[in-house]
Amino acid sequence: MVSVAALSTILQMGNLPMFEILKYPNPKLNIICKPVTEFGTHLIDTVNSMIATMVANNGIGLAANQVGLDIRLFVMNVQDSMKEYINPVILEYSDEIEYDEGCLSFPGLFIDIRRYNKIKIKATTLMGVEFEEELEGLDAICFAHELDHLNGLTFFDHLSPLKQKMQQKKLQKLKREANR
Ligand code: ZN
Repeated sequence: MVSVAALSTILQMGNLPMFEILKYPNPKLNIICKPVTEFGTHLIDTVNSMIATMVANNGIGLAANQVGLDIRLFVMNVQDSMKEYINPVILEYSDEIEYDEGCLSFPGLFIDIRRYNKIKIKATTLMGVEFEEELEGLDAICFAHELDHLNGLTFFDHLSPLKQKMQQKKLQKLKREANR
């Protein structure tokens, strides 16, 4: 985990390479990411750059394939703590909840999505050590949203074809307004 203080120092130094965030409908958002097998310096650099990219774009989560990488890794920034999840898995889930979700690959779009409010998860640290955690509320929602990305899915995949069409129109309108 990178502390907020350490991260702001790194950001101020301005030497942390940033990633470009891929936007829908980039086909890389639909790839199924592969397990991380190599841990160490390169992975730490990747995670730091992903955290910097997420923070610079005011996101609370960012998955590897949103920045063009095909590895099972995402970062989260919920409750003011940056955290990386490598090879993440949901072990148990309960208690449904609906939340108005956003996504850095769909700028300006917010959609009500139904997910689980409580989950038990498993992942590994930057050093490849496995750990388990229980997540609740926005942490659980964000985790599931990011895990979907690693499986090539976006929040659009939770919608009926009709609702997808409606949201696509909204997204095109947002794009036109942004380009004005
Ligand atoms: Zn997303």
